[in-house]
Amino acid sequence: MSSTVVTGIGELVTCDGTGADGLGVQTDAAVVVQDGLVAWLGPQAGAPAADRRLDVGGRAVLPGFVDSHAHLVFAGDRGAEFAARMAGTPYDGGGIGVSVAATRAAGDDELRALLAARVAEMRAQGTTTVEVKSGYGLTVEDEVRALRIARELTAETTFLGAHVVPGEYADDRAAYVDLVTGPMLEAAAPYARWVDVFCEPHSAHAFTADEARAVLTAGRAAGLGLRVHGNQLGPGPGVQLAVELGAASVDHCTFLSTADVDALADAADTTVATLLPGVEFSTRSPYPDAAALLRAGVSIALATDCNPGTCYSSSMPFVIALAVREMGLTPGQAVYAATAGSARSLRRDDVGRLAVGARADLTVLEAPSHVHLSYRAGVPIARALELEA
Ligand SMILES: [Zn+2]
Repeated sequence: MSSTVVTGIGELVTCDGTGADGLGVQTDAAVVVQDGLVAWLGPQAGAPAADRRLDVGGRAVLPGFVDSHAHLVFAGDRGAEFAARMAGTPYDGGGIGVSVAATRAAGDDELRALLAARVAEMRAQGTTTVEVKSGYGLTVEDEVRALRIARELTAETTFLGAHVVPGEYADDRAAYVDLVTGPMLEAAAPYARWVDVFCEPHSAHAFTADEARAVLTAGRAAGLGLRVHGNQLGPGPGVQLAVELGAASVDHCTFLSTADVDALADAADTTVATLLPGVEFSTRSPYPDAAALLRAGVSIALATDCNPGTCYSSSMPFVIALAVREMGLTPGQAVYAATAGSARSLRRDDVGRLAVGARADLTVLEAPSHVHLSYRAGVPIARALELEA
């Protein structure tokens, strides 16, 4: 396979942990790519020769965004629910059932095409790694189907049979938990890297702490890594459960107690707090104080939660801009959280940073600096750099 040298990088953000906000910025840099990996990076004047040369004309280059929380395998439309919510109808998780019905009714090829279009939409905005959850099937067959299709496009697949209790089990929750932790898990595990649960006592559709513990411990026994939807709609047990069980990530963290923050700080080497400000935006909820979490020593990540109900945005630049404007992060901190931070929440060190041996997932900006991601909010300046001719 041929090598490519990317030259003319006005600002190269490596996210190597050094310098301001850990961004490891180099100026007037070049990157040599071979076999899909970074073979060399440094000052352009010292760049070795390569088979091809691609000049980016002074633009900024950074690691492709890592969207570590997304629900992309679904059919149907819930625009009317969003409009109703903006007119004052509160969110309680019940709308997920609408997507479940539409997704069950869709054919494999329809779901595959919908997923591919959403992943392409992300890539066009600079996202090069995406985690994809099941959770709109909620039968053994439909959950396995979602994961099998997702696996065709990403290694980061997450079994979320415990998204909500489906309507047909509303009067027998225990039977549904038995299904999720038994036959459904057994069938889904070969197609999943992670297991996740919507642990939320403030939603009648979601799972209690005890139910969530059963789902997570069964998933762990099946060899899956752990992720948790927690503390989204109000204070709750999700964060403490995630930390106790050594989950890689607890996501949302909208409502945190002091004890939750302390627990996350103590577990910073293990459990990442993944913040999803697109959800706060789309549900008119208060934003968590990301700057306070960083000061406390918590490991944070940013992701979209792209889903048909509470945030139908696939845009990591939008998330970065929200994190800066509404959650107190500097532009650099937000970029780090959306790359190295979210890679960490997936326990990956080959993405989310640029170093020799890492994947050559490069995102280029129509701008001279990463600051423009939040400075030029809403402007489509980021895209994955296509290295193949
Ligand atoms: Zn989610």
